Amino acid sequence: MSYRIPFNKPALIGPELGYIADSVRSGHISGDGKYTKLCHQQLETWFGVKKALLTTNCTHALEMSAILLDLQPGDEVIVPSFTFVSTVNAFVLRGAKPVFADIRPDTLNIDETLLPGLITERTRAIVPVHYAGVGCVMDAIMPLAQRHNLTVIEDNAHGLFGRYNDQWLGTFGALATQSFHETKNFSCGEGGALLINDEALVERAEIIREKGTNRSRFFRGMVDKYTWVDVGSSYLPSEVLAAYLYAQFEASEAIQNKRAQIWNRYQQHLSEWAQSHDVRLPTVPENCEQAYHMFYMLLPSLEIRTQLINHLKERGILAVFHYLPLHLSDMGQQFGGSPGDCPVTEEMSDRLLRLPFFYDLSEQDQMEVIHALWSFEEG
Ligand SMILES: *Cc1c(COP(=O)(O)O)cnc(C)c1O
Repeated sequence: MSYRIPFNKPALIGPELGYIADSVRSGHISGDGKYTKLCHQQLETWFGVKKALLTTNCTHALEMSAILLDLQPGDEVIVPSFTFVSTVNAFVLRGAKPVFADIRPDTLNIDETLLPGLITERTRAIVPVHYAGVGCVMDAIMPLAQRHNLTVIEDNAHGLFGRYNDQWLGTFGALATQSFHETKNFSCGEGGALLINDEALVERAEIIREKGTNRSRFFRGMVDKYTWVDVGSSYLPSEVLAAYLYAQFEASEAIQNKRAQIWNRYQQHLSEWAQSHDVRLPTVPENCEQAYHMFYMLLPSLEIRTQLINHLKERGILAVFHYLPLHLSDMGQQFGGSPGDCPVTEEMSDRLLRLPFFYDLSEQDQMEVIHALWSFEEG
């Protein structure tokens, strides 16, 4: 069925189509042309990372990270159970064993207090996910990782322009991954980026992204022929996609301001209702500036959530739940996951509901969503 108010709609700012036409007319539509370079520069300037590389998606940026780690069979990587499957699959693909950590009940981010108990001699990395663009407790995670010589890879798919203690999300770990899927704040349909904060990883990341060749160095005139030097794959997006993305980057302020406005309007009009219905709205700690990626609510129970989804559906509004606990999935159970391992994840996964949230959501439509919630009576 189609909904009058969908959950998501990809943003079209305006200049995207002109930039795409420009890239096509230029005769260079494969990767690493003018628009890709503009995107790299923009990301590097905004966040001060050593290197930014566009990728075909966030999943592939995570896979590049896993290749960079040189994982050996039996190596362990600590991940939250409450995340998208790619956060984990990328490392499993390289033969690592995922170790699932539970989340904090307030921000739904990986519970840093559990990490010391999960680290073993085989642990190689921690992958914090900044859920809903609100920072994980990096104050605890970074020193712990340093003490145990672990690499931190931030899955920052939700968190572009979020900050923790006045520092950009995506600049804490040696590596961070971004998504430009159509559901994210900035999009080109399918796309991503690897942000590199550890200078020592830059050259090899370029090689892995270019099929295991030193093609990037060749184009910069640093070697006189290019050849196969390492393992690798093909992770470059087409210029056509980079052109679309760059138009969105140029509109970053408008996009983020609009999303902040939508987020604040939900918060403002729903806080009283939430209190009287035993519903919890998102928690954003004092030291976090969120990225305005989503607006979720925690309902009192799975049953009430189902009733509310149907209530909204009858009014043409699509609201959706989110991640199912990965430790309880078929694959997660093969890695030893079982019920009760991550109780907070298991509970929140049942209670969480996301409201329509996208750049083009009009005030009128948003107020309709709000009024529909106000009219909800649990049966
Ligand atoms: C969207 C998302 C991904 C995957 O992004 P793709 O670009 O679709 O590969 C990974 N991790 C998280 C947390 C996400 O939200």
